[in-house]
Amino acid sequence: MDLFEYQAKELFAEYGVPIPQGKVATTPVEARQIAEDIAAERPGAKPLVVIKAQVKTGGRGKAGGVKLADTPDEAQEKATKILGMDIKGHTVHSVLVAGDTDIAQEFYLSFLLDRSDRTFLSMCTVEGGMEIEDLARERPEALAKIPVNALTGVDHAKALEIVAAGRLPEAAREEAATLAEKLWAVFTGEDATLVEVNPLVYTGDGHVVALDAKVTLDDNAAFRHDWARFADPTAVDPLEARAKAKHLNYVKLDGEVGIIGNGAGLVMSTLDVVAYAGEEFGGVRPANFLDIGGGASAEVMANGLEIVLSDPSVLSVLVNVFGGITSCDAVANGIVSAIGMLAEQGNPVTHPIVVRLDGNNAAEGRRILDEAGIAVVEQVATMDDAARRAAELASASKGA
Ligand code: GDP
Ligand code: MN
Repeated sequence: MDLFEYQAKELFAEYGVPIPQGKVATTPVEARQIAEDIAAERPGAKPLVVIKAQVKTGGRGKAGGVKLADTPDEAQEKATKILGMDIKGHTVHSVLVAGDTDIAQEFYLSFLLDRSDRTFLSMCTVEGGMEIEDLARERPEALAKIPVNALTGVDHAKALEIVAAGRLPEAAREEAATLAEKLWAVFTGEDATLVEVNPLVYTGDGHVVALDAKVTLDDNAAFRHDWARFADPTAVDPLEARAKAKHLNYVKLDGEVGIIGNGAGLVMSTLDVVAYAGEEFGGVRPANFLDIGGGASAEVMANGLEIVLSDPSVLSVLVNVFGGITSCDAVANGIVSAIGMLAEQGNPVTHPIVVRLDGNNAAEGRRILDEAGIAVVEQVATMDDAARRAAELASASKGA
């Protein structure tokens, strides 16, 4: 998970990494109020504040998403310009309003997980501010890359080695090294795979502060952190959010055939087969990925059907199950009760559901479905034929 700059800076502050004081605003008036508070603390400062677009992409400065303001009035005006702006396909919903920093020099410092070299890596250079990818390509010798041992980590001596390798000026090294140690603490303490500061600024009065902050957290470690606070409601598809709340592994796609299967591999091949079959029927495509896993209980099946059918683009559903530990008779019972549950909840299923059952106890599963005699359910024996039929039904109802 990537964090917004203001969220990354919240983490920095928790670990004592020096950052300019600031707050996030979602309206121009809020931006003005924050600027007024800052003006009260530093009367006469010019520029007074910097207004920064909060989007999860770099190059905001170049795109016009970072602006200075001398007064609260001007802060409001600049915030009006930045809010709603589109930066590389990201809409700006909020701005960070922070006290202006007197920049003498811009450096670069990062810690990251270098998967290709199977190590942690620190990168540092005196030539910060610019896009680091450009520097790495054009003059790789200017960017120091220092491996960091996972067991010994970054103590003060190691931090000094890093900032010296980056050729930071002597006078800045002591503070930069102290900052680097704290940044490493953020990296390990927060289970990050990237912590990047560009620019790391040497100020006019000789201090080192993190002016920008980019943090990527390792989602695999989410269970041991309170990361719900970083969730971005503006970025999540509402159906995916509902599915997540029900612990379903659902990804919204843009086709018309709803897909439910058990096992990620089977569901992925189902997507392929439906997309292939759909070509014959005017380009009908899968509407989602949904893996209901090994359990496939009636409740999970009902939740799955409910989510898939709430997608207004869905015109037919393909349930593709290969019985393993959960046998097909259990899955069939699950489908029957799921359809019953939805009817009871006032959401009777009206779209056709094509079911393909194979594997453990498939014959019994098919018998259960046949006996239930549900009008919308149609069984097809093979995966290819089931995909074809589901695509055909979607296409027919599209034409209707
Ligand atoms: P990015 O372009 O998305 O990486 O955004 P940054 O946070 O790195 O800001 C881009 C540039 O804006 C920085 O390199 C600085 O030169 C400038 N900048 C950011 N904050 C301030 C500030 O407080 N004062 C001044 N004078 N310039 C700033
Ligand atoms: Mn930056």
